Amino acid sequence: MCKEAALHYDKMLRNPYHMPPLVEKRHWCRWCCKERRARLMFCVRDGPINYYFCDTEHAEYWLEYRHKVPTYELCRMLPQQRMVELQGRSMEEEISRLLNDEVTAGCNSTPGLRDIHSR
Ligand SMILES: [Zn+2]
Repeated sequence: MCKEAALHYDKMLRNPYHMPPLVEKRHWCRWCCKERRARLMFCVRDGPINYYFCDTEHAEYWLEYRHKVPTYELCRMLPQQRMVELQGRSMEEEISRLLNDEVTAGCNSTPGLRDIHSR
């Protein structure tokens, strides 16, 4: 870009009325953390906050599991934190693991219940 063009471009950027849409807004899916262009995503409005998802399926999963005790923390995590937590597993795998853990823990706290299940 020549100097004149650069100056013109700079001026244009400073003027909010001439601001071109340089970068299209992107969001990450609250369920699988994949980043996509906002207009291609499914948006759920919850009060003042917009939550974005790849599709309705991911939105449904998230809306269901964000209120369950063993899984709500995972659903609230930001992508980086969640990547560490998942260690390569998918959200579906991790959620079913967490739910299974809860069921098993419930069985352990009631003596004899496990014996009934194994028969
Ligand atoms: Zn997704």
